[in-house]
Amino acid sequence: MARRRDSFTPSLLNAPEVRTALVATIAPLAPIDQTFSYLVPEPLGAALRPGMRVEIPFGRKERRAVGFCIAVSRQAWDSTLKELYGLVDERPVLSERLLELGRWVSRYYGAHLGRTLDLMVPAAAKRRAGRRRVRYVRLPESVSGDQNAGREGRAIRAGQQAILDALRARDGPVRFDELCAAAGCKPATIGTLAKKGLVEIETRWEAAAPEQPAVVRHEPPFELNDDQRAAIEQIGAAVSARQFSVHVLFGVTGSGKTEVYVAAIRGALAQGRQAILLVPEIALTTQTAQRLAARFDRVAMLHSGLSEVQRSRAWAAIEGGAVQVVIGTRSAVFAPCSNLGVIIVDEEAEPSYKNQQSPRFHTRDVAITRGHLESLPVVLGSAAPSLETWHNALTRRHYHLIRLPHRVRGLAMPSVHLVDMRDEHHARRGVHMLSRAMEWHLNRVLERGEQAVLLLNRRGYASYLCCRRCNTAVCCPHCSVRMVFHTTTGLAHCHYCHEKLSVPARCPTVACEGNLVRFGIGVQRVEEEVSQKFPGARVRRMDSDAMKSPADYAETLGAFERKEFDILIGTQMVAKGLDFPFVSFVGVVSADTALALNDFRAEERTFQLVLQVAGRSGRGDVGGHVVVQTFAADTAAVQHAVEGDYEGFATVELARRKKLRLPPFTRLMRLVLSDPKVTRLQKAGAALVQALRDLFTRHGIIARLTEPAPAPISRLRDLYRYDVQAYFPTAEAMLKGIEVMKSEGLLRAGVKSLVVDVDPVSLQ
Ligand code: ADP
Ligand code: ZN
Repeated sequence: MARRRDSFTPSLLNAPEVRTALVATIAPLAPIDQTFSYLVPEPLGAALRPGMRVEIPFGRKERRAVGFCIAVSRQAWDSTLKELYGLVDERPVLSERLLELGRWVSRYYGAHLGRTLDLMVPAAAKRRAGRRRVRYVRLPESVSGDQNAGREGRAIRAGQQAILDALRARDGPVRFDELCAAAGCKPATIGTLAKKGLVEIETRWEAAAPEQPAVVRHEPPFELNDDQRAAIEQIGAAVSARQFSVHVLFGVTGSGKTEVYVAAIRGALAQGRQAILLVPEIALTTQTAQRLAARFDRVAMLHSGLSEVQRSRAWAAIEGGAVQVVIGTRSAVFAPCSNLGVIIVDEEAEPSYKNQQSPRFHTRDVAITRGHLESLPVVLGSAAPSLETWHNALTRRHYHLIRLPHRVRGLAMPSVHLVDMRDEHHARRGVHMLSRAMEWHLNRVLERGEQAVLLLNRRGYASYLCCRRCNTAVCCPHCSVRMVFHTTTGLAHCHYCHEKLSVPARCPTVACEGNLVRFGIGVQRVEEEVSQKFPGARVRRMDSDAMKSPADYAETLGAFERKEFDILIGTQMVAKGLDFPFVSFVGVVSADTALALNDFRAEERTFQLVLQVAGRSGRGDVGGHVVVQTFAADTAAVQHAVEGDYEGFATVELARRKKLRLPPFTRLMRLVLSDPKVTRLQKAGAALVQALRDLFTRHGIIARLTEPAPAPISRLRDLYRYDVQAYFPTAEAMLKGIEVMKSEGLLRAGVKSLVVDVDPVSLQ
């Protein structure tokens, strides 16, 4: 390693001084998850600030690498430190507060610090994409008006004079193109003036303002009800107090939660602060987002449907304070608002809030931490809060529970009717996807010119293909899951690795060659059956196969709102957040899809889905009916959902979780090991669990570890998967566990990949 030659020769006559130097702490983006200290060369000292990216010599070969500066301080001279090469950014891409948030995310989720920081800022925003060079013209400062006039007298043409007049009429620089237009001159004329030194031209980099969502502006004609007012008062007081607190807005579907969000945002804006509204999935919540966007002037949307340039512009406008309200999905929780007043998490229980790549953060929990770091209130809205949030609301001091127990305008909750499909099959010949009750309601809806929503949470046509003779199902060649038959492509699809195969004519098992039959139903099959049974009905399907872009959702939902079709059939995406006044019937074709999950949250998911989709019904004046079809009519989740009884469900389910020592009574960290070789996985898994047991014992960390076992999806994209679960009694114990695992290098297990998933939302 080349040490820096010391050019400083201490004088023997002077008392020995302690030499100091600027030292930067850097988190590199390279795979090694550690921070390193570097000397800052004097000329860079003034410019370098935490949150900037720098170039550093890295590794034995001192290759150029990029890292985030997380701190700069003056320290005693240490000649063993290397000097950093230079700065990547002119300004910090992360504020100090966001740096702190990033450090928490990396620590809590066991994620690589440098990469976490890097992922918090969109690539395009780091490049400052979409910025344009804009030229400005101004009068030189050194030349006084009189002198100018004298010089002009000599050699100035009328066109040039017009430019100078136009400039003098304005205060300060004028955009080049604007000036041309104002003075009615050619660009060359300004160039001539610049050569003469009579004007100066300067170039600035500017971002165009972010596009505003296309919306119809309307103020609601109603008065807030008492419950809404009480909620607004409580949240408003918290916003004014500028103190950290969490407000769980538990409001039944159609109780007008959006108005409460609007008021909370207004409260923040009135104090000159900004607001972030997080939505689970932009496609699912286009309607809510647009409705909110319509209520505020300077709104930016942040979601995956944006182009690089759009994203970068939005980012710059938020950073510069030009945007007041940010509406977005997961990554919007890192929006660079410098003066935030409130964060709202709509539908906080949605699993899509969990990032499924490292850093595997939960948006809601990052929002709460950001609220804590920046001393501001966080609002969590839901008709069926996650049991984690509910448990916190009941037990934690800084949590406040706000109820909106009634629908607005005194509208009734929809009446829900449960159909036990076992009885239905006994009572009726043939295979029917739609029960008699469901058919009766659909007929009525069509007769009255109302609208209906049908939900089946399964994509495709038939959920699997199976051999009649040997009972083998057709599985994905790369994953241990059944392939789903799609009529749209005529192919068998893997919903995990996206492989598509032509459907074999006969059973692929060697020497069997039995007939293959389609089993199970998917949403495409429902669409087919509805079209056959109700030939006059206008039917459209909404699932991720039919919807290719966010524009498709907007189009379909818009058409439904305009009553251009009668029945909307879809997967879970039809369940969320939609508000259509003419929907008088909602049918859940099967409430059981989530119950089949191998996951301790299966009941919770089932409950949420049924409650949510039922909530789409009867939101206008036409009244609402719901039919829920199930083969599991006796489960608590289905029964409570049918009664719309969240608290009843939460009580039963929390008691079960407590007994089994499951979250929220414990903290779960899931480790998934994958490798092309099963034997290596088995060995590595056993060694990992043993090492973890020793480590935790040595550090006095209490944890319950499961034995390594094949994951429910035991093979994915040609890799076998093993699963280890660690349950900790508290978050502190888990944090300490992650810390020691990191420091002892246990996050590498000698297999192809080891994923650490803290607070996982899926155990597949
Ligand atoms: P939630 O999110 O709680 O399901 P929304 O906020 O979508 O409910 O509100 C449902 C509908 O009721 C919306 O169309 C909204 O404009 C309307 N609304 C909200 N508050 C009131 C009120 N106080 N009186 C009448 N209508 C209201
Ligand atoms: Zn696959």
